[in-house]
Amino acid sequence: MTDTLNFEGRVVIVTGAGNGLGKSHALEFARRGAKVVINDLGGATSGGGRDSAVAQKVVDEIKAAGGEAVANGDSVEDGEKIVQCALDTFGQVDVVVNNAGILRDATFHKMTQEDWELIQKVHLGGSFAVTRAAWPHMREAGYGRVIMTASGAGVYGNFGQANYSAAKLGLHGLAQTLAIEGAGKGIFVNTIAPIAASRLTESVMPPAMLEGLKPELVTPLAIKLCHESNTDTGQLFEVGGGWVSRLRWEQTQGARFNPAQGFSAEQLADEWDTVQSFEGAGHPKDMMNTLKVVGELIGVDLSLS
Ligand code: NAD
Repeated sequence: MTDTLNFEGRVVIVTGAGNGLGKSHALEFARRGAKVVINDLGGATSGGGRDSAVAQKVVDEIKAAGGEAVANGDSVEDGEKIVQCALDTFGQVDVVVNNAGILRDATFHKMTQEDWELIQKVHLGGSFAVTRAAWPHMREAGYGRVIMTASGAGVYGNFGQANYSAAKLGLHGLAQTLAIEGAGKGIFVNTIAPIAASRLTESVMPPAMLEGLKPELVTPLAIKLCHESNTDTGQLFEVGGGWVSRLRWEQTQGARFNPAQGFSAEQLADEWDTVQSFEGAGHPKDMMNTLKVVGELIGVDLSLS
């Protein structure tokens, strides 16, 4: 099949592109004509260490195949430096794929402050820092595509990953607001929750599963969402092993009480089935639905405020 999703003239930053998913994304962006910043600190899966050869190896592979790329060994916490590398080398930044990540798994009662903070710093802080640095350039150009890499652990929770779950769902919260703020400037921001064989999963997945879950089975979604033809924004996808699926919020009709009279916990208990029942549930796209319902109850048109 011919490639119609071309990235000729586009500059793409992929963080954590030295291994796993990031490497797969970067190789494919480059193969499709993008100039790619291969960012990777080259550290351990738990966050320590640094090795500039990791990013350089991917750059060498891209160049050997006739593509264009530059290596960057900064931590995503120093987002300004990574974006500056894109500007200095290629003069612009069109796409940011926030992908770099580490793990510091521990059950919550054993989780240290350091386990918590490091995960927030790299995942949430790093995605903030890189995107924040690229944002003014995208606004000025009236064009941008951004990916946040979340996880099913954030969407559903996962034993031993309280720090990681919090950061990962935080990324979707960030993406949803950036989607709102970026829409008028042609900047579209989406979140992917992948599943793939990598350094991060090789110790927790059985070999047969690792064999089937190639990072290359996640990359087409990143390519699709980052292409200029894509206008979807603020969306969340699960992807892996050949499956791509979109997630959305679902809201029950809910119980309604007279706000002037208030209501007791016992009255709420009586209506608990109504609170819980998804019969006739809605799929709100923004906060307007909540404002409308609450506004009707209190007799004020909150949608105008
Ligand atoms: P990976 O370890 O193969 O790749 C992550 C890369 O990020 C590594 O090369 C690492 O050196 C780099 N990195 C780590 N900290 C960095 C920092 N501070 N600055 C720059 N680079 C840094 O792991 P992967 O599985 O390919 O993970 C990629 C992303 O996907 C991560 O955000 C991860 O949380 C997420 N994710 C992966 C899976 C999965 O099944 N593999 C599932 C859900 C989410």
